[in-house]
Order: sequence, then structure tokens, then C-alpha cells
Amino acid sequence: MGDADKLKITIDREGCIGDGACCNDAPETFEMDDDDIAVLKDPVGDDRDTVLEAAQNCPTDAIKVEDTATGEVLYPEG
Ligand code: SF4
Repeated sequence: MGDADKLKITIDREGCIGDGACCNDAPETFEMDDDDIAVLKDPVGDDRDTVLEAAQNCPTDAIKVEDTATGEVLYPEG
């Protein structure tokens, strides 16, 4: 289990193009569903940096990551 327990991770199903990149970057956090759309497998499966890296590498910025303690949107920025 990672240390991503303070993160709220949201996946935009409309934005996901199903390339599976997030599942490669953070395989304990994301998985593909039967429609080839990414879903949360375990929100605390990987560490925080790994989740953020996966969000940054998503080609469509379909993954939103918020800090539940501060409410800050960590990704996408700005
Ligand atoms: S990286 Fe983004 S587009 Fe690719 S499967 Fe994950 S959520 Fe979907």
C-alpha cells in the first residue's frame, strides 16, 4: 500500500482514450474496465508521486488529483 491516502483521484470517463498509460505508470491505482476506460483499482495502491506522474502522463489530462487535506488541485495545474 502506498501513501496516496490523502489524495482524491478522479477519472473523466469522457476524456479517457483508453491507451492504458496510467495503468502502466501506477498499476496498483488504475485498471481498465470492460469498456477500455480507466477506473480506480485502489486509491491508495501506489505512492503519491507515482499517482501524480500517471496523471501528468495521461495524454488527455483525464486524471484529476486533489489533496483532500487542503482541497488543492495538484493536477491538472492552473
Ligand atoms: S492515461 Fe488517461 S487516457 Fe490513458 S487510460 Fe489512463 S485515464 Fe485513460
